[in-house]
Amino acid sequence: MGVWQEIGDRVWVRRYEMLDQTIGAVAGDDGLLIVDTRGSHRLGRELQADAAELSRPVRWVVNTHFHWDHSWGNAVFANAELWGHERCPPALLSTFEPEQERVIGDFPEMADDVHEVVPTPPRHLLTDAASIDLGERLVELRHLGRGHTDNDVVVVVPDVGALFVGDLLENGAPPYFGDSFPLDWPATADAIVAIASGPVAPGHGDVGDRGFAERQAGALRLVADLGRLVAVRDMTLVDAARSGPFGEEASRGPIERAAAQARGDFG
Ligand SMILES: [Zn+2]
Repeated sequence: MGVWQEIGDRVWVRRYEMLDQTIGAVAGDDGLLIVDTRGSHRLGRELQADAAELSRPVRWVVNTHFHWDHSWGNAVFANAELWGHERCPPALLSTFEPEQERVIGDFPEMADDVHEVVPTPPRHLLTDAASIDLGERLVELRHLGRGHTDNDVVVVVPDVGALFVGDLLENGAPPYFGDSFPLDWPATADAIVAIASGPVAPGHGDVGDRGFAERQAGALRLVADLGRLVAVRDMTLVDAARSGPFGEEASRGPIERAAAQARGDFG
């Protein structure tokens, strides 16, 4: 916590205690790219001050997905190019007001911060892939399919093999399934495994490697498989949760959502 950790040549992560969040930074000759902006203008300004330690202007920002803790600091970086998936802006804007209420409910001490937030969606959008030239260094943005949300973006730094995967993978806590597509997620996680050759930085928790990505992909596949069984009544939700990858309590919700998707309730 509290320091930029270099995980490859001019590629850093910084851990924040709140939500055990992991923010990324990548430098090229022309400036700095930041991965995610945290959950309010105040937290974004804190990140901006921390990024100043890297002694380069922040020219690019990528939102790995629309969730508040990844995008509500965007306004602070309005002078940079804001990048995201094409489904990120509508998701960010349409959920903004209910999410404000929910976040204040979860973090009452953040009420003033939350009211200050001006939703600022990315204006540079990708469908499947895009690349950004940081100056003598290319960074790739990839949408590998639906998973944690329908607008997840993976940031690839090819010359050092580093990946920023947002909340498609989490290290140290069960992934959040609230806006997820549990039946699509395993294939998306497998696509991460297929391109993982170096450090894999999740949106929350410690930086991992290909083995970490493989284990997470396996856990996500188990959730999908159990959800399918529950959907066709080959297994009860109670039994499925007991066999779940995150422990009974934390597996129930994800399996329930997988079963709902398998029944065609959404997606
Ligand atoms: Zn998220």
